[in-house]
Amino acid sequence: MAYVVQGSRGGKILIHEGYRYQKNRIRLNAIHWRCWRNTCRAPLRTAVFDIQNAPNNIDVVYVSEHDHQEDQETIDSASIRQRMVNHVSANPEVSGRQAYDNVVQQVPRNERDSIPTYDCLRSSLDRTRRKHIPPIPATINDVAINGRWCLTKDGDQFLSKLDNGWGIAFSALGRHLCVWEIVMTYI
Ligand SMILES: [Zn+2]
Repeated sequence: MAYVVQGSRGGKILIHEGYRYQKNRIRLNAIHWRCWRNTCRAPLRTAVFDIQNAPNNIDVVYVSEHDHQEDQETIDSASIRQRMVNHVSANPEVSGRQAYDNVVQQVPRNERDSIPTYDCLRSSLDRTRRKHIPPIPATINDVAINGRWCLTKDGDQFLSKLDNGWGIAFSALGRHLCVWEIVMTYI
């Protein structure tokens, strides 16, 4: 059985028995993979599956010999990186640094040598986080919350509550200051 992790440059990497493979080509009945090491390029074939939503138990239908030892250390590192990215995706309200620290704390002591540095991961964690967090509106006119606006007695719009599934925002229009105050709380 094999599984897929996210590579550091965005591509998908197949892991099988301690070796890493890159996708070579997709055929009707199989996906063809090659060992990621240019000096080896040992072929492997799996059943066809959705690479973007890969299951954890991919059937390997053909495998050949490598001319080198397993890539376990690199694989441990890729798997820790994947856990950090998953953590950010599931908890976008947590900062990239906090997500990194949370996962580091869960890594067993004997695998700590494989932890990538925060500087290596900062941009990809931030990028993942941005995908899950809506952009901060530049002006009040950019705040498009259809059907959620309420009206004051004077006919001014104000937002009383917004629940987007992972956080609740309350805001109010200061009567004399005309300043919006927004309080975010995470659930
Ligand atoms: Zn190889």
